[in-house]
Parts: sequence; C-alpha cells; structure tokens
Amino acid sequence: EEERLIQSDKLSMAGQLAAGIAHEIRNPMTSIKGFVQLIRSGAGRKDEYFDIISSEIERIELIVSELLFLAKPQSVKFERADIRQLLDQVITLLNTQAIIHNVEIITDFGEQAANVDGDVNHLKQVFINFIKNAVESMPDGGKLTIRLERGSDQTVAIHFTDNGCGIPESILSRLGEPFFTTKEKGNGLGFMISKKMIEDHRGQVHVTSKLQEGTTITVILPLSII
Ligand code: ADP
Ligand code: MG
Repeated sequence: EEERLIQSDKLSMAGQLAAGIAHEIRNPMTSIKGFVQLIRSGAGRKDEYFDIISSEIERIELIVSELLFLAKPQSVKFERADIRQLLDQVITLLNTQAIIHNVEIITDFGEQAANVDGDVNHLKQVFINFIKNAVESMPDGGKLTIRLERGSDQTVAIHFTDNGCGIPESILSRLGEPFFTTKEKGNGLGFMISKKMIEDHRGQVHVTSKLQEGTTITVILPLSII
C-alpha cells in the first residue's frame, strides 16, 4: 500500500486516477468473486455472504458515480443559486446523521443574501462532502459551525469549521490527490471532486487546520451578477 502511494506521486493526474480506479475496484471484485464461489460450494451462511457482496457492489457504484462527474464536465447547468437555501437543505438532509454522531451543526449565515450562479446539484454535493468530512473528523462528537461571510470583492465565503482531529502537515499537501484517504471506509474522492466542482464555478477552496483542535474548510464563490 505504502509503495503504491509513493509510486503514484510520480504519475500524472490521469495515471494516478487509472491506478487508483484499478486498485479500488479490484479489491471489491476479488471479494465478490470469493463469496460467489463460497455460495456456489454451498458452504457457510449464505445471507451473510449476500450482504457482503451487495456492500462491495455499493462501494464500486459509489466510486463509479463520483468518477462519472469528471467524465461529464459539459453537463454543468448554471442557474441562480441561493447559498443559504442550499445549505439549509443539505443540513436538513444530514442532521439526523450528525445527531447520531453527537455532532451539533451551528449556522451563522448573517443577514445578507448570498446568491451565486452555479449548478445546484454540484454545489449541494460539495457541501455534503465537506459536512461529512467534518462529522467524520469528530468520532467522539463535537461542533460544526457553518458561517457565511461576504467578501469585499463580490464574493461569498462559506466556512465549515469543525473541532475534530485536525489534519497533519504531511497530509495537508496530499488533500485533493485522488484516492488519498486516511479512513478505513473512505475512498479519497470527496475532496478532489469538491475542489474541481468549486473551481468550475470560478471559486476556490482553502484549508486551515490544527492537529487535535480542528479544521476549517473555506469555499469562496463569486456572487451572482444578475
Ligand atoms: P474520504 O473522506 O473518503 O477519506 P476525502 O477526499 O473526502 O476522502 O478526504 C481525504 C482525506 O482528507 C480524509 O481521509 C482525511 O484524512 C482528510 N480530511 C478531509 N477533511 C477533513 C476534516 N474536516 N478533518 C480532518 N481530516 C479531513
Ligand atoms: Mg470524504
């Protein structure tokens, strides 16, 4: 695993992606093959094997659907999007999950409107990815603050601040590298895809982090001019 990661540093983006996809898909394939054989042989607990097979298929499905985004950049549909409303919708969607993990989501949107021109589904996907990462960084629970701030240059900044595990220096520089994950069940695509989506909106993603104290992910987007 270590060797694969070091090696991938030297590959191009396309090479990294290809190597990562091959690796990420081969593992669940191998396990599906094994369990199909076991079922065929009539041994053991069929139900359990079917459960494993279906979760391995889901894993492949998730990787494929996230990667399809990269293959179809032309499908971006720009429209006027109210960031406050999108954030509200996403928070409603994820709040139960946050509560289960003992994470309190606090919002500080201020009074000003925050409209951008963008693809509503892509923007929601970005917010979901950053909120999920924040929740996952706080295994013992904590607070996630989502704050909106108007910039002086016709931009809006969205700050996602968690008080989770933080990101070590050595990992900060690898954020956004495809398939780079520190999680057992992670796929290391969320950050890369999110950064790409925001850049497609002429925006930026910034990260500041302190180990054991927490992380702030800041998304900066140009305000709608219409
Ligand atoms: P995944 O969540 O599947 O691991 P991501 O691309 O979303 O993949 O994130 C890559 C890695 O970046 C994570 O595995 C984690 O190490 C780190 N990371 C991202 N966001 C945070 C955060 N808010 N706090 C701590 N670590 C983070
Ligand atoms: Mg993630």
